[in-house]
Amino acid sequence: MSNTKQCPYCAEEILSEAKKCKYCHETVDVALRAAEEAHHMHDNQPTVYMNAGGAVPVRETPQSNAPEQPPPVDEKGTYWLPIPSMVIGILALLTLFDDSPTDHDTMLGMILIAIIGLVLGIISLNKQRKGKGMAIAGIVLSVIAILGWVGQLE
Ligand SMILES: [Zn+2]
Repeated sequence: MSNTKQCPYCAEEILSEAKKCKYCHETVDVALRAAEEAHHMHDNQPTVYMNAGGAVPVRETPQSNAPEQPPPVDEKGTYWLPIPSMVIGILALLTLFDDSPTDHDTMLGMILIAIIGLVLGIISLNKQRKGKGMAIAGIVLSVIAILGWVGQLE
């Protein structure tokens, strides 16, 4: 009986040409088993690869991503949003306390201008960090001016 061998998994006598054990259904053929294990490895790859290849991305990430990303957010932006917002807010508020008589159309015009100042300040705050203080001042002044002018209308 030279054409039989012992199954390494269940110790039953199986044909030496057998690729799989007929008793325990384990793959006996070395090449086939290697292929199956490679296939299994493929299924479980996330864990294996993260450990194996992890060193490369971890080293690259701090160099390429970390220094580049935060600064542009802080640096980018324009003063053309917060400064006009604040200036409009100041002007709308100053004209509000001006004693000279103002007609209805002027009041509506000032409300409209103050709304523009408010919108510019909000856009600036949402879009950029640059001129944040001025944008907040512009919003606050514009809101006060709008409320003041609306109060004058009545
Ligand atoms: Zn077996």
